[in-house]
Amino acid sequence: MLLPDEHVNKITDITIKMLKKNNIEYMFLDSDNTLIDLDRNPLEGLQEWIQKLKENNIKFCIISNSIKKRKVEKIAKILDIPYVYFALKPTKIGFKRAKKLMNIQNNEKIAEVGDQIFTDVLGAKRMKMFSILTNPICEEKVKLNNIKRKLEKRILKNYSAK
Ligand SMILES: [Mg+2]
Repeated sequence: MLLPDEHVNKITDITIKMLKKNNIEYMFLDSDNTLIDLDRNPLEGLQEWIQKLKENNIKFCIISNSIKKRKVEKIAKILDIPYVYFALKPTKIGFKRAKKLMNIQNNEKIAEVGDQIFTDVLGAKRMKMFSILTNPICEEKVKLNNIKRKLEKRILKNYSAK
C-alpha cells in the first residue's frame, strides 16, 4: 500500500515511454514540493515537460491538499490545467472530484504523482491508480544550502586564518 510503482528524483524525469508502457492517459499532480517549491516557484523545466506530454495526449489535473486556493490556482493557470484544492488526500474525496472534472472512468489509466508517501502514494493505491513518487523539491534545496553553508564556513575559516 505504501510502495509507489515508480520513484523518480523530480517530476520532469517522468518520460512518455514510462507512461505509455503503463497505459497512462491521465496524470494527477500534487502541487507543494512536487510542482512548486516553498517560495511557490515552479520547478525548472516544468512548463516544457507539461507541454511535451500534452502533445502526446496526456491530460492533467492538479490535486493539492493545500487550503490556499490562490496558490494552487496560480500554478494551474501557468500550466493551463484544471485543479482541485483542499483535496484531503489520502481520502478518495479529491480524487473523485478530479475524476468527475476530467470525466475519467478508468482509474488504472491515471498516474498520481507526488512527494509524500502517506498522502500521495497511499491515496493513489487506495484508488487503484498508478503511483509515482518524487523526491520533494525543497529537500534538494536544503541539501544544497547545507553544502553552501559548509563551503561558506570553510571560506570564512580560511579568511580569518589569514
Ligand atoms: Mg507535496
